[in-house]
Amino acid sequence: MSQKILEKSSSSIAHANLNNVDDMGKHFSYDRYVQELVWFDHGKINAAYNAVTKNAYSARRNKVALYYESDEGLKEKYTFQEVEERSNQIAHYLKKMGVEKGDRVFIFLPRVPELYFSFIAALKLGAVAGTMFSAFGPQALFDRLDQSDAHVLITNKELSQRLDSVRRKLPHLQHVLLTDGNFGAHYQNESKDFTCARTNEDDDAFMLYTSGTTGKPKGVVHGHRAIVHQYLTAKWVLDLKEDDVYWCTADPGWVTGIAYEILGTWANGASTVVTAARFDPADWYRIIQEYKVNVWYSAPTAVRMLAAQSDTLHSKYNLSSLRHLASVGEPLNPEIIHWSKRAYGLPFHDNYFQTETGGIMIANYPSLPIKPGSMGKPFPGIKVHIVDPEGNALPPNSIGRLTFEPNWPSLMKKLWRRPHKYDSYFMKMCPSRKKLYVTGDLAYIDEDGYVWFVGRDDDVIKTAGERVGPFEVESALVAHPDVVEAGVIGKPDELRGQIIKAFVVLQEGVWGNEKKKEEISQFVKKNLAGHAYPREIEFVDKLPKTRSGKIMRRILKAQEMGLPIGDTSTLEEY
Ligand code: ATP
Ligand code: MG
Repeated sequence: MSQKILEKSSSSIAHANLNNVDDMGKHFSYDRYVQELVWFDHGKINAAYNAVTKNAYSARRNKVALYYESDEGLKEKYTFQEVEERSNQIAHYLKKMGVEKGDRVFIFLPRVPELYFSFIAALKLGAVAGTMFSAFGPQALFDRLDQSDAHVLITNKELSQRLDSVRRKLPHLQHVLLTDGNFGAHYQNESKDFTCARTNEDDDAFMLYTSGTTGKPKGVVHGHRAIVHQYLTAKWVLDLKEDDVYWCTADPGWVTGIAYEILGTWANGASTVVTAARFDPADWYRIIQEYKVNVWYSAPTAVRMLAAQSDTLHSKYNLSSLRHLASVGEPLNPEIIHWSKRAYGLPFHDNYFQTETGGIMIANYPSLPIKPGSMGKPFPGIKVHIVDPEGNALPPNSIGRLTFEPNWPSLMKKLWRRPHKYDSYFMKMCPSRKKLYVTGDLAYIDEDGYVWFVGRDDDVIKTAGERVGPFEVESALVAHPDVVEAGVIGKPDELRGQIIKAFVVLQEGVWGNEKKKEEISQFVKKNLAGHAYPREIEFVDKLPKTRSGKIMRRILKAQEMGLPIGDTSTLEEY
């Protein structure tokens, strides 16, 4: 893996909200920063109050909180005051429906303003908000509504049809509210004032199902206190400033959309751009140009697709408003970081977290030099340990389990109705017996304290006695000019235990024949390592991905081996 440092401009460092992560890490304590949030008496806090109400009663009152564009190009904007009022009206409506503290209110909507208002409303009531990506079909919907014992579902007429076949199997589901039906027509008659619930910091606030990359999605529950970490990470990692226009391309059906499109973002007073349209390179550049987006948070899959466009596309747009770019969800291939620096004059900053961690844990900060391919350094206060399966700490540059000391405010509170699974996330360190949260990912830390992602525990390949992470092979493949994306797996092999097999998507117009396979294979062998190159390559049109954009290597593997492919509720059509 390349250890070369990418140069940055001194102004991006000088103006960053956090100017030295190492120094901050030495003395960090949340105690000092919790004061930047609003607490009620007796240590109570409500995340929605901090995201919206606080702003609606301040100088930010008339500031745009939400710029919205529908997929038909309809444009709307809502100030913090308006978001406050709409969410208050919905909170009243839900209360009249009998929703009480702790009840699960699920939202199944495309990206429309009501999704955001309803999420905030549920939190204001002290209910538990759950979001589901609008592409889910009946089975995925049923699994989540059933597993969570949801009481209320907020959706629209079109999407509610997917519920028809399963509704009778959901005895807990008391109300299905339609934004284009009675609910939409009536909530606006409710009062615009609502007294936000004085929730305890560890009261349940929202729950999210994981992406299902490795298996059946888990229902992760977070408390109101999660906003402390979300607020601070949005400030120091995303570098959000008061006057920023910010665009997060994630859907609120996933943790990034909740933590960094709603809670952490608004707690910092930034204006957020939401568009219902699907990914389209030219349209994305148009959005950045039109809204003068300053901070852009996206995912590797999208950036790889942008990099696959012709070199002239981005230069047709004025992207000069951009100041900071960040990426999450999957490893960010070094080649893509170099490309973004060339194309936009700015590198994408990779960062790492999980639904379970509720907020960013490891990051590249504007003020920190980037080592392309590394996830950066732990957030101040986060204590990372790389350990072996027995819990022994490993020295720098050794691959092991990525674990954290469970001491940050947005660590999941529980997995809904799965206590044993929850317990399995923790282990004891050896010999100190210190409790560790285990991510399920493998990584190593270099001598400068940068953390390098190797792969998910289950995805790491053992070939001829060596451990090889799929990410480094995929990155070496993506560096080939003809390769857009690649998914790499270990394929059982009598001689070597496993061999590396790569599924490769080629640039449009490139002919995938045997000669091309050999050329790509040799390219990786030369640039990466003699043993870590794909002995088999298969050209494919598309890779199987979750709807949140992650490569599902377990599906590639199951197909390769003729095994059942398991839970596919989050699989994108492919
Ligand atoms: P499931 O737990 O259901 O299998 P999932 O792990 O994909 O799904 P998420 O919580 O959305 O669900 O994703 C977290 C995982 O995504 C991490 O554990 C890690 O494997 C991967 N990930 C996130 N960010 C990064 C990153 N910057 N680099 C590498 N991997 C990342
Ligand atoms: Mg996971």
